[in-house]
Amino acid sequence: MTRPDPATSGEIAEEQDLGSVFVSNYPPYSVWSEDAVAEARRALETTVPGGRDLGVYLHIPFCRKRCKFCYFRVYTDKNFDEIGTYLDALGREVELYSKMPSIAGRKPKFIYFGGGTPSYISAKHLRALVERLQRAIPWDGVEEVAFECEPGTLTEAKLQAIRAIGVTRLSLGIENFDDDILRLNGRAHVSKEIDRCMPWIEELDFDQLNVDLIAGMLGETWEKWRATVARTIELDADSVTIYQLELPYNTRFTKNILDGALEVPVADWETKRAWHAYAIEEFGKAGYQTSSAYTLVKKDHPCRFLYRDSVWHGCDLLGTGVASFSHINGVHFQNCDGWGEYLARVGREELPLSRAFSTGPEERLIREFILQLKLGSLGAAGFAEKFGTNVLERFAEPLRRLQKDGWLQLSSDRIDLTPAGLLRVDSLLPNFYEEKFRNARYT
Ligand code: SF4
Repeated sequence: MTRPDPATSGEIAEEQDLGSVFVSNYPPYSVWSEDAVAEARRALETTVPGGRDLGVYLHIPFCRKRCKFCYFRVYTDKNFDEIGTYLDALGREVELYSKMPSIAGRKPKFIYFGGGTPSYISAKHLRALVERLQRAIPWDGVEEVAFECEPGTLTEAKLQAIRAIGVTRLSLGIENFDDDILRLNGRAHVSKEIDRCMPWIEELDFDQLNVDLIAGMLGETWEKWRATVARTIELDADSVTIYQLELPYNTRFTKNILDGALEVPVADWETKRAWHAYAIEEFGKAGYQTSSAYTLVKKDHPCRFLYRDSVWHGCDLLGTGVASFSHINGVHFQNCDGWGEYLARVGREELPLSRAFSTGPEERLIREFILQLKLGSLGAAGFAEKFGTNVLERFAEPLRRLQKDGWLQLSSDRIDLTPAGLLRVDSLLPNFYEEKFRNARYT
């Protein structure tokens, strides 16, 4: 389907049922190139000015089963020894970076175990990995250690190991409580596994428990979604993250749609947003408030999400593991996304970089501006101080257009998205792209 012209429509991706809508970076990944990898190497060889935060992302690309909407680099066929080989390479990769001038001697502010399913790996593997990582890049002083979990992979002993390595933010991928929906969407877990692990999580008293839900999984109905929201409220998590299901081109469901083989229809965007809005309202009644387009936190003790806030404010992020993304010293780069190539290159003591993009001040400004718009409100003063740019003037034309369409409100020093704007924020962000990137494929 053709995208509407951004000059005439505030909402860029509204009618697009397939493809990526979610914006996690700028410029789009499709314009990163192998030619720019030399610039990533130069950035890594250059000392970073003091004061810029560093975070480390560790990609654990294993899952019990591949969800039918999944578009991440994950493996479901690796045995214990193969996982051990990968984790050795991951440790080695961190060691290689730890000696580079841009990283050496810096203390990370946060660590993020993402995937895939970090909780898929054994406690033994996890402890060995963390000991090695901490020798390479000491964690003392780290303010957040976030760890993604899939309910069915958790045992009490594994959760104790996760707690013992210093995890502060446990993120539980519940997605839905309805077993038919979970099965239809290819999720590995069933609802009783959520009920089984919750007492262990409560007992271990993590600083922060986040739970993830997805609005619009296949088979969703109003009745089932209401039940999922009600059961999630009962969990009393510190934060709840809700995504609207999207179907990029490399998912099983997308292939089924293109082959005409999808038996259950995908909910349209309007319905997904209605479900998302309902959840926000119900969580609001239960004492939660919005902290970004996706996340709700408790009003009486709102928790932080340092990884999100630091990345959206332009920190350095060292992404390690197959296919992971980094941003160091103003340069974006990504690791190669093949299992064999990743292991071979790290085995040769080489950085496994595959493509990069060296950002200029304009791209950095736009990147932080669009990412921070996802918080729902944005003050102009911070941008004037950091970039010397009045974003209200710089983006006056698209801002006025989006205000006219009802997606945001402008005042003399800030931008506030309306509730309707926040529900579709990702589709609005390309309005702020430089012309040359506006019609670029996203990934
Ligand atoms: S659990 Fe997450 S990473 Fe794993 S297959 Fe499902 S969506 Fe993909």
